[in-house]
Amino acid sequence: MKRLNLKKTNVVRSDTLRSINRRIVLNYIRESGPISRSEIAKQTALQRSTVSLIVNELRKEGMIKEVYGQSSGGRPPILLSLQTMRAVALGIAMTTINTTVVTSDLTGAIIQQEEFPTDPDVDVTMGRIVDAAKRCIRHSGETIEGIGVSVPGVVDTEKGVALFVPHFKWRDLEIRKILERETGVPVQVGNDANSAALAELWFGQSEVREVRDFIMVLVEEGVGTGIVYDGQIYEGKGGTAGEFGHMTIGQGAPVSCATGSRECWEAFASERAALARYAAISTNGSKPKDINIEKLIDLALDGDKAAIESIKQTAHYLGVGIANIIQGMGPEAVIVTGALARAWTLIGDELKAAVEECLCREYHSTLIIASTLGKESAIMGALSLILAPKFAPVV
Ligand SMILES: [Zn+2]
Repeated sequence: MKRLNLKKTNVVRSDTLRSINRRIVLNYIRESGPISRSEIAKQTALQRSTVSLIVNELRKEGMIKEVYGQSSGGRPPILLSLQTMRAVALGIAMTTINTTVVTSDLTGAIIQQEEFPTDPDVDVTMGRIVDAAKRCIRHSGETIEGIGVSVPGVVDTEKGVALFVPHFKWRDLEIRKILERETGVPVQVGNDANSAALAELWFGQSEVREVRDFIMVLVEEGVGTGIVYDGQIYEGKGGTAGEFGHMTIGQGAPVSCATGSRECWEAFASERAALARYAAISTNGSKPKDINIEKLIDLALDGDKAAIESIKQTAHYLGVGIANIIQGMGPEAVIVTGALARAWTLIGDELKAAVEECLCREYHSTLIIASTLGKESAIMGALSLILAPKFAPVV
């Protein structure tokens, strides 16, 4: 996403201004709709004629619709809201275990969903993705305007290439090229944690949307981080920023990281680490059958002591890593997401205590919270790659 640079007034042309006004109106309808034309004009200080012109344009494009408001005696007022129940975005969230393919309307409401295991054979997985995408596009009535793909690895977002997916050792996977060729629909590809951060900006709790600088910590099979600086995703050179999951925080972790080290943060603080701890605590090392992270969290929430202990220990190490990030980056907030976020009532205090313990300065100003998107973060992240630019002020 390009940045809005208000200092470059010499290059702001009238069509740029119109595009900014258009997005202001669209965002008012998104945040405050159903809302009337006159109310938009009042709140934005735009002229009524300008608002009417933009509204006509947005209606013609199918972005918004008219609805009737509550009558206060006379004729019911005509209000505006976002167009819903028409699939415009297709989101593909790839994790190391499953790949989920969904369609959604402009508001991010899911319309259709498919899920299948992510196969270590890249051709098998890409084949399944292409098939599912084609099915969803057909099912939508060919209304899909863009496909967003989130990937657990390093992504060149300009080229739409997954440069490296450590878990599967995939390299230079040309996701955009393959999907655009097969579907004819424009494709955006993003790193999973960066996409989750984008989802938090667009679909998350209101207190987060006000925050300009935050770190998203996505805990799954690995630990990924997305850096939001001044309201924008910071990708770094070649999309390599935010690989805090591989910072060294200790020795002898319960599992190896995706590239084989037992010293990395994700080896201590990922879902796999929590499951390994549970195996060690509950059955003296023999692996309990049929356990996955969702079941482990269910057990913990039901009061299972071994389950609680294993996620608390994991939360401690999450806190250790977060302290390092706070120390170096000084964000306004740190948001933890992934399945573990569901157990925040059990792990929140443990995690914050570890942060406090590890910091060599006070951190009172840093908000540490769980994402309300939780395990939907990956899906909403993939959709955000398509939906967010529709609302963002791009020049
Ligand atoms: Zn590592």
